[in-house]
Amino acid sequence: MRRPLVAGNWKMNGSTESVAALIHGLRAGLSADLAVDVLVCPPAVYLAQAGALLDSSMALGAQDVSEHAAGAYTGETAASMLADLGCTCVIVGHSERRALFGDSDTRVAAKFSAVKAAGLTPILCVGETLDQRESGQTLAVIAAQIDAVLLEQGVGAFTGAVVAYEPVWAIGTGRTATPEQAQAVHAAIRAQIAAVDPTVAAELKILYGGSVGSANAEALFGQVDIDGGLVGGASLKVDDFLAICRAAAR
Ligand code: PEP
Repeated sequence: MRRPLVAGNWKMNGSTESVAALIHGLRAGLSADLAVDVLVCPPAVYLAQAGALLDSSMALGAQDVSEHAAGAYTGETAASMLADLGCTCVIVGHSERRALFGDSDTRVAAKFSAVKAAGLTPILCVGETLDQRESGQTLAVIAAQIDAVLLEQGVGAFTGAVVAYEPVWAIGTGRTATPEQAQAVHAAIRAQIAAVDPTVAAELKILYGGSVGSANAEALFGQVDIDGGLVGGASLKVDDFLAICRAAAR
């Protein structure tokens, strides 16, 4: 059975004060016996602070990474540096990175590889725009995003990795995919991996992201191929994020 995972993507929000308040609030509300893995992904500049405040109820993740290992890449952060700070997971290919910062499928695949090479878990984000959904391209778009990693690095790269299905039209909009819409895409992702290696597919955690909140989490997480969530806005509110974590626990 796949243990559920709820990851909070704090995006570019916070201050030393709010990071401390958020982590203290989460620590107070998360019990050790909750059957869910919880991950928080603060902005890079707060990773060290957050890492020092976390206890064993939560793991630390980063929101992005360089595809390069080291060297003259001003402003970039290597996967080994994230590991050094105690990160266990790194988000790659978030739609905001793809749309605003030029992260192509090829670069996302290179980042995925860099994360794996550092011994960390990549959380590969995939998702379609509203136009792509409305023109019936959803599954083809997602398949191409998965293929960019699959064909380059082989199915073995997905062992221990995480995929997050995040429809672009649902991110930060308050508009969520229905549980049935999300399940259909999650099942297609698993089938794509299963066509190459059924064991890797069966073990692959596939998260849903896109306006997950306390009101819709349970219905989404009740779907057979949805193994938890990647949560943006609601991960900045202690009570909402805790409710989402509880909804994912199995
Ligand atoms: C995200 O940023 O990955 C996300 C899903 O955001 P939100 O939950 O705010 O839609």
